[in-house]
Amino acid sequence: MTRSASTRELIDKFGRRVDYIRLSVTDRCDFRCVYCMTEDMKFLPRKEILSLEELYQVARAFTELGVRKIRLTGGEPMVRTDVMSLIEKLGALPGLDELLLTTNGAQLDKFAQPLKAAGVNRINISIDSLDAERFKRISRVGKLDRVLAGIDAAILAGFDRIRLNSVIMRGYNEDEVLALTDFAVARGIDIAFIEEMPLGEASDHNREETTCSNAWVRQIIESKYELIQSAEKTAGPSRYARIAGQTSRVGFISPVTHNFCEDCNRVRVTVEGRLLLCLGNEHSVDLRSILRDPTQGYEELQQAIIASMAIKPERHFFYDKDHVQPVRLMNMTGG
Ligand code: SAM
Ligand code: SF4
Repeated sequence: MTRSASTRELIDKFGRRVDYIRLSVTDRCDFRCVYCMTEDMKFLPRKEILSLEELYQVARAFTELGVRKIRLTGGEPMVRTDVMSLIEKLGALPGLDELLLTTNGAQLDKFAQPLKAAGVNRINISIDSLDAERFKRISRVGKLDRVLAGIDAAILAGFDRIRLNSVIMRGYNEDEVLALTDFAVARGIDIAFIEEMPLGEASDHNREETTCSNAWVRQIIESKYELIQSAEKTAGPSRYARIAGQTSRVGFISPVTHNFCEDCNRVRVTVEGRLLLCLGNEHSVDLRSILRDPTQGYEELQQAIIASMAIKPERHFFYDKDHVQPVRLMNMTGG
Protein backbone atom coordinates (compact mmCIF):
# COMPACT_ATOMS: atom_id res chain seq x y z
CA MET A 1 0.00 0.00 0.00
CA THR A 2 1.42 3.39 -0.88
CA ARG A 3 1.18 6.07 1.76
CA SER A 4 -0.58 9.28 0.88
CA ALA A 5 1.61 12.08 -0.49
CA SER A 6 1.17 14.21 2.61
CA THR A 7 2.68 11.58 4.94
CA ARG A 8 5.63 10.76 2.72
CA GLU A 9 8.81 12.58 3.54
CA LEU A 10 12.36 12.84 2.33
CA ILE A 11 14.82 11.29 4.76
CA ASP A 12 18.19 10.00 3.55
CA LYS A 13 20.09 6.98 4.81
CA PHE A 14 22.03 9.12 7.30
CA GLY A 15 18.77 10.30 8.89
CA ARG A 16 18.92 13.80 7.40
CA ARG A 17 15.56 15.27 6.48
CA VAL A 18 15.46 17.18 3.19
CA ASP A 19 13.10 20.14 3.50
CA TYR A 20 14.88 22.65 1.28
CA ILE A 21 15.48 22.69 -2.47
CA ARG A 22 17.51 25.01 -4.60
CA LEU A 23 15.84 25.20 -7.96
CA SER A 24 17.82 26.53 -10.89
CA VAL A 25 15.55 28.29 -13.36
CA THR A 26 18.19 29.02 -15.99
CA ASP A 27 21.88 28.42 -16.72
CA ARG A 28 22.09 31.79 -18.48
CA CYS A 29 23.30 35.02 -17.01
CA ASP A 30 23.95 38.62 -17.93
CA PHE A 31 27.25 38.47 -15.96
CA ARG A 32 30.29 36.19 -16.38
CA CYS A 33 31.80 36.15 -12.88
CA VAL A 34 35.34 34.78 -12.92
CA TYR A 35 34.68 32.14 -10.25
CA CYS A 36 31.44 30.94 -11.80
CA MET A 37 31.69 30.91 -15.59
CA THR A 38 34.12 30.91 -18.45
CA GLU A 39 34.24 34.02 -20.60
CA ASP A 40 32.84 32.24 -23.66
CA MET A 41 30.23 30.16 -21.84
CA LYS A 42 28.01 28.02 -24.07
CA PHE A 43 24.51 27.76 -22.71
CA LEU A 44 22.05 24.89 -22.99
CA PRO A 45 19.75 24.63 -26.00
CA ARG A 46 16.16 25.54 -25.14
CA LYS A 47 14.78 22.02 -25.57
CA GLU A 48 17.14 20.70 -22.91
CA ILE A 49 15.94 23.03 -20.18
CA LEU A 50 12.79 22.51 -18.17
CA SER A 51 9.83 24.62 -19.20
CA LEU A 52 8.30 26.92 -16.60
CA GLU A 53 5.45 24.41 -16.23
CA GLU A 54 7.92 21.52 -15.69
CA LEU A 55 9.78 23.58 -13.08
CA TYR A 56 6.49 24.19 -11.34
CA GLN A 57 5.62 20.45 -11.35
CA VAL A 58 8.99 19.66 -9.78
CA ALA A 59 8.50 22.31 -7.08
CA ARG A 60 4.98 21.08 -6.37
CA ALA A 61 6.14 17.47 -6.09
CA PHE A 62 8.81 18.43 -3.57
CA THR A 63 6.49 20.55 -1.43
CA GLU A 64 4.04 17.67 -1.25
CA LEU A 65 6.93 15.57 0.08
CA GLY A 66 7.64 17.98 2.93
CA VAL A 67 9.87 20.62 1.36
CA ARG A 68 9.20 23.92 3.14
CA LYS A 69 11.73 26.21 1.48
CA ILE A 70 12.56 26.78 -2.13
CA ARG A 71 15.42 28.97 -3.26
CA LEU A 72 15.36 30.08 -6.89
CA THR A 73 18.77 30.42 -8.41
CA GLY A 74 20.70 29.89 -11.61
CA GLY A 75 22.44 31.28 -13.62
CA GLU A 76 20.65 34.52 -13.10
CA PRO A 77 16.97 33.78 -12.35
CA MET A 78 15.79 37.18 -13.48
CA VAL A 79 17.02 36.73 -17.08
CA ARG A 80 14.61 33.84 -17.71
CA THR A 81 11.77 35.01 -19.93
CA ASP A 82 8.51 35.26 -18.00
CA VAL A 83 10.09 33.98 -14.78
CA MET A 84 7.65 36.14 -12.81
CA SER A 85 4.74 33.89 -13.89
CA LEU A 86 6.53 30.90 -12.32
CA ILE A 87 7.41 32.83 -9.17
CA GLU A 88 3.79 33.91 -8.73
CA LYS A 89 2.65 30.27 -8.91
CA LEU A 90 5.36 29.12 -6.51
CA GLY A 91 4.39 31.87 -4.08
CA ALA A 92 0.91 30.35 -3.91
CA LEU A 93 2.05 26.71 -3.34
CA PRO A 94 0.38 25.23 -0.26
CA GLY A 95 2.84 24.06 2.36
CA LEU A 96 5.67 26.31 1.34
CA ASP A 97 6.95 28.41 4.26
CA GLU A 98 9.58 30.38 2.41
CA LEU A 99 10.31 31.33 -1.15
CA LEU A 100 13.83 32.67 -1.51
CA LEU A 101 15.79 34.13 -4.40
CA THR A 102 19.49 34.53 -5.14
CA THR A 103 20.21 37.18 -7.76
CA ASN A 104 22.98 39.36 -9.07
CA GLY A 105 20.63 42.29 -8.42
CA ALA A 106 21.11 43.92 -11.82
CA GLN A 107 17.37 43.93 -12.57
CA LEU A 108 15.99 44.39 -9.09
CA ASP A 109 15.14 48.04 -9.60
CA LYS A 110 12.42 46.73 -11.92
CA PHE A 111 11.55 43.45 -10.18
CA ALA A 112 11.93 44.00 -6.41
CA GLN A 113 8.31 45.09 -5.87
CA PRO A 114 6.71 42.39 -8.07
CA LEU A 115 8.89 39.73 -6.39
CA LYS A 116 7.74 40.84 -2.95
CA ALA A 117 4.12 40.90 -4.13
CA ALA A 118 4.51 37.37 -5.56
CA GLY A 119 5.49 36.03 -2.14
CA VAL A 120 9.29 36.04 -2.15
CA ASN A 121 10.24 36.33 1.52
CA ARG A 122 13.99 36.76 1.45
CA ILE A 123 16.49 37.73 -1.15
CA ASN A 124 20.26 37.28 -1.53
CA ILE A 125 22.12 39.74 -3.73
CA SER A 126 25.67 39.00 -4.85
CA ILE A 127 28.17 41.83 -4.74
CA ASP A 128 31.92 41.31 -4.62
CA SER A 129 33.23 44.86 -4.92
CA LEU A 130 32.12 48.45 -4.34
CA ASP A 131 34.56 49.75 -6.91
CA ALA A 132 33.08 49.97 -10.41
CA GLU A 133 36.29 48.94 -12.21
CA ARG A 134 36.90 45.98 -9.97
CA PHE A 135 33.27 44.98 -10.05
CA LYS A 136 33.61 44.79 -13.79
CA ARG A 137 36.84 42.81 -13.58
CA ILE A 138 35.21 40.19 -11.35
CA SER A 139 31.85 40.00 -13.16
CA ARG A 140 33.58 40.59 -16.53
CA VAL A 141 30.55 42.55 -17.82
CA GLY A 142 28.44 43.70 -14.86
CA LYS A 143 27.75 47.31 -13.98
CA LEU A 144 28.04 48.18 -10.31
CA ASP A 145 25.51 51.04 -10.43
CA ARG A 146 22.79 48.62 -11.62
CA VAL A 147 23.40 46.38 -8.62
CA LEU A 148 23.49 49.30 -6.18
CA ALA A 149 20.15 50.50 -7.58
CA GLY A 150 18.83 46.94 -7.19
CA ILE A 151 19.89 46.79 -3.54
CA ASP A 152 18.12 50.12 -2.85
CA ALA A 153 14.97 48.84 -4.55
CA ALA A 154 15.05 45.60 -2.54
CA ILE A 155 15.34 47.54 0.71
CA LEU A 156 12.37 49.71 -0.29
CA ALA A 157 10.29 46.66 -1.25
CA GLY A 158 10.47 45.42 2.37
CA PHE A 159 11.63 41.78 2.16
CA ASP A 160 11.82 39.91 5.49
CA ARG A 161 15.59 39.84 5.13
CA ILE A 162 18.12 40.89 2.56
CA ARG A 163 21.56 39.35 2.48
CA LEU A 164 24.53 40.33 0.38
CA ASN A 165 26.78 37.49 -0.84
CA SER A 166 30.46 38.17 -1.38
CA VAL A 167 33.13 35.81 -2.63
CA ILE A 168 36.49 37.11 -1.40
CA MET A 169 39.46 36.23 -3.61
CA ARG A 170 43.11 37.04 -3.14
CA GLY A 171 44.28 39.35 -5.90
CA TYR A 172 40.76 40.54 -6.68
CA ASN A 173 38.96 41.99 -3.66
CA GLU A 174 40.58 40.76 -0.45
CA ASP A 175 41.05 44.38 0.70
CA GLU A 176 37.28 45.07 0.54
CA VAL A 177 36.11 42.88 3.41
CA LEU A 178 35.57 45.85 5.73
CA ALA A 179 34.13 48.14 3.06
CA LEU A 180 31.55 45.49 2.12
CA THR A 181 30.72 44.87 5.78
CA ASP A 182 30.36 48.64 6.42
CA PHE A 183 28.06 48.88 3.40
CA ALA A 184 25.75 46.18 4.81
CA VAL A 185 25.85 47.61 8.33
CA ALA A 186 24.94 51.10 7.09
CA ARG A 187 21.82 49.63 5.46
CA GLY A 188 20.86 47.26 8.28
CA ILE A 189 21.09 44.23 5.98
CA ASP A 190 23.06 40.98 6.32
CA ILE A 191 26.19 39.94 4.50
CA ALA A 192 27.61 36.46 3.92
CA PHE A 193 31.13 35.67 2.87
CA ILE A 194 31.40 32.60 0.68
CA GLU A 195 34.62 30.71 0.19
CA GLU A 196 35.32 30.12 -3.47
CA MET A 197 34.41 26.56 -4.32
CA PRO A 198 36.28 24.39 -6.82
CA LEU A 199 33.39 23.81 -9.22
CA GLY A 200 34.75 23.26 -12.71
CA GLU A 201 37.54 25.20 -14.42
CA ALA A 202 35.87 28.60 -14.55
CA SER A 203 38.66 31.01 -15.08
CA ASP A 204 42.27 31.82 -15.63
CA HIS A 205 43.14 31.83 -11.93
CA ASN A 206 44.25 28.92 -9.79
CA ARG A 207 41.60 28.69 -7.11
CA GLU A 208 43.95 27.31 -4.51
CA GLU A 209 45.89 30.58 -4.80
CA THR A 210 42.87 32.91 -4.69
CA THR A 211 40.66 31.23 -2.09
CA CYS A 212 40.58 33.24 1.15
CA SER A 213 39.48 31.26 4.17
CA ASN A 214 36.54 32.57 6.13
CA ALA A 215 38.70 32.39 9.28
CA TRP A 216 40.88 35.06 7.67
CA VAL A 217 37.86 37.14 6.57
CA ARG A 218 36.47 36.95 10.07
CA GLN A 219 39.69 38.23 11.62
CA ILE A 220 39.55 41.31 9.40
CA ILE A 221 35.95 42.02 10.38
CA GLU A 222 36.85 41.59 14.04
CA SER A 223 39.51 44.29 13.72
CA LYS A 224 36.57 46.72 13.57
CA TYR A 225 33.40 44.99 14.78
CA GLU A 226 32.59 42.80 17.75
CA LEU A 227 31.04 39.58 16.46
CA ILE A 228 28.70 37.66 18.72
CA GLN A 229 28.35 34.07 17.62
CA SER A 230 24.75 33.25 16.99
CA ALA A 231 23.13 29.87 17.47
CA GLU A 232 20.56 30.79 14.81
CA LYS A 233 20.01 28.17 12.19
CA THR A 234 18.93 29.19 8.75
CA ALA A 235 17.78 27.13 5.82
CA GLY A 236 21.27 26.98 4.41
CA PRO A 237 24.83 26.21 5.44
CA SER A 238 25.71 29.70 6.76
CA ARG A 239 27.02 30.16 10.25
CA TYR A 240 25.91 33.55 11.48
CA ALA A 241 27.38 36.06 13.88
CA ARG A 242 25.62 39.19 15.11
CA ILE A 243 27.45 42.47 14.97
CA ALA A 244 27.33 44.05 18.43
CA GLY A 245 25.05 47.09 18.49
CA GLN A 246 23.87 46.57 14.88
CA THR A 247 20.95 44.85 13.19
CA SER A 248 23.16 43.29 10.53
CA ARG A 249 24.45 39.76 10.77
CA VAL A 250 27.53 38.32 9.14
CA GLY A 251 27.30 34.85 7.63
CA PHE A 252 30.22 32.60 6.87
CA ILE A 253 29.75 29.93 4.24
CA SER A 254 32.86 27.82 4.44
CA PRO A 255 32.45 24.77 2.25
CA VAL A 256 36.18 24.49 1.69
CA THR A 257 37.59 24.88 5.20
CA HIS A 258 34.57 23.70 7.14
CA ASN A 259 32.62 20.67 6.16
CA PHE A 260 28.94 21.50 6.71
CA CYS A 261 27.57 18.21 5.49
CA GLU A 262 26.45 16.60 8.73
CA ASP A 263 23.27 18.64 8.90
CA CYS A 264 22.68 19.00 5.18
CA ASN A 265 18.94 19.44 4.60
CA ARG A 266 18.92 20.29 0.92
CA VAL A 267 19.15 19.08 -2.65
CA ARG A 268 19.44 20.93 -5.93
CA VAL A 269 17.55 20.66 -9.18
CA THR A 270 19.40 21.91 -12.24
CA VAL A 271 17.54 23.60 -15.05
CA GLU A 272 17.97 20.40 -17.09
CA GLY A 273 15.91 18.64 -14.45
CA ARG A 274 18.82 16.81 -12.89
CA LEU A 275 18.22 16.26 -9.19
CA LEU A 276 21.65 16.71 -7.59
CA LEU A 277 21.92 15.13 -4.18
CA CYS A 278 25.12 16.97 -3.19
CA LEU A 279 26.96 20.10 -4.31
CA GLY A 280 30.30 18.31 -4.36
CA ASN A 281 29.35 14.95 -5.88
CA GLU A 282 27.81 13.80 -9.12
CA HIS A 283 25.08 11.57 -7.63
CA SER A 284 21.92 12.58 -9.44
CA VAL A 285 18.56 11.51 -10.82
CA ASP A 286 17.20 12.58 -14.19
CA LEU A 287 13.75 14.06 -13.47
CA ARG A 288 13.39 15.51 -16.97
CA SER A 289 13.16 12.08 -18.58
CA ILE A 290 10.29 11.24 -16.24
CA LEU A 291 8.55 14.57 -16.86
CA ARG A 292 8.77 14.02 -20.63
CA ASP A 293 7.90 10.33 -20.72
CA PRO A 294 4.24 10.00 -21.72
CA THR A 295 4.05 6.63 -19.93
CA GLN A 296 5.05 8.18 -16.61
CA GLY A 297 3.21 10.73 -14.50
CA TYR A 298 3.28 12.80 -11.35
CA GLU A 299 3.30 9.74 -9.06
CA GLU A 300 6.42 8.36 -10.80
CA LEU A 301 8.04 11.79 -10.42
CA GLN A 302 7.42 11.75 -6.68
CA GLN A 303 8.57 8.12 -6.38
CA ALA A 304 11.84 8.99 -8.12
CA ILE A 305 12.39 11.88 -5.70
CA ILE A 306 11.72 9.64 -2.70
CA ALA A 307 14.02 6.91 -4.09
CA SER A 308 16.82 9.46 -4.62
CA MET A 309 17.26 9.73 -0.86
CA ALA A 310 19.05 6.37 -0.95
CA ILE A 311 21.93 7.85 -2.98
CA LYS A 312 22.45 11.16 -1.16
CA PRO A 313 26.17 11.09 -0.32
CA GLU A 314 27.36 11.58 3.23
CA ARG A 315 29.66 14.53 2.40
CA HIS A 316 31.69 16.37 -0.23
CA PHE A 317 35.46 16.02 -0.69
CA PHE A 318 36.54 19.40 -2.09
CA TYR A 319 40.32 19.54 -2.57
CA ASP A 320 40.72 15.94 -1.46
CA LYS A 321 43.17 14.57 -4.04
CA ASP A 322 41.90 11.02 -3.53
CA HIS A 323 38.43 11.97 -4.78
CA VAL A 324 37.17 12.98 -8.19
CA GLN A 325 36.25 16.70 -8.21
CA PRO A 326 33.02 17.97 -9.82
CA VAL A 327 33.33 19.20 -13.40
CA ARG A 328 30.08 21.19 -13.21
CA LEU A 329 30.35 24.96 -13.10
CA MET A 330 28.33 26.86 -10.51
CA ASN A 331 25.87 28.26 -13.05
CA MET A 332 25.07 24.67 -14.06
CA THR A 333 24.76 23.59 -10.47
CA GLY A 334 22.42 26.21 -9.10
CA GLY A 335 24.41 28.14 -6.53
N1 SAM B 1 23.26 34.82 -10.45
C1 SAM B 1 22.86 34.78 -9.10
C2 SAM B 1 23.91 35.42 -8.20
O1 SAM B 1 25.02 35.64 -8.66
O2 SAM B 1 23.59 35.67 -7.05
C3 SAM B 1 22.50 33.41 -8.59
C4 SAM B 1 23.37 32.26 -9.02
S1 SAM B 1 25.02 32.31 -8.40
C5 SAM B 1 25.68 30.80 -9.08
C6 SAM B 1 24.77 32.01 -6.67
C7 SAM B 1 25.92 32.33 -5.76
O3 SAM B 1 26.97 31.44 -6.03
C8 SAM B 1 26.47 33.74 -5.91
O4 SAM B 1 26.45 34.39 -4.65
C9 SAM B 1 27.89 33.52 -6.37
O5 SAM B 1 28.75 34.48 -5.82
C10 SAM B 1 28.18 32.13 -5.84
N2 SAM B 1 29.21 31.41 -6.59
C11 SAM B 1 29.30 31.16 -7.91
N3 SAM B 1 30.39 30.39 -8.21
C12 SAM B 1 31.00 30.15 -7.02
C13 SAM B 1 32.17 29.43 -6.64
N4 SAM B 1 32.92 28.78 -7.53
N5 SAM B 1 32.48 29.40 -5.33
C14 SAM B 1 31.71 30.04 -4.40
N6 SAM B 1 30.61 30.73 -4.70
C15 SAM B 1 30.25 30.79 -5.99
FE1 SF4 C 1 25.97 35.01 -13.16
FE2 SF4 C 1 25.62 34.68 -10.57
FE3 SF4 C 1 27.39 33.16 -11.91
FE4 SF4 C 1 27.90 35.72 -11.52
S1 SF4 C 1 27.69 34.16 -9.92
S2 SF4 C 1 28.12 34.60 -13.48
S3 SF4 C 1 25.91 36.63 -11.61
S4 SF4 C 1 25.24 33.15 -12.19
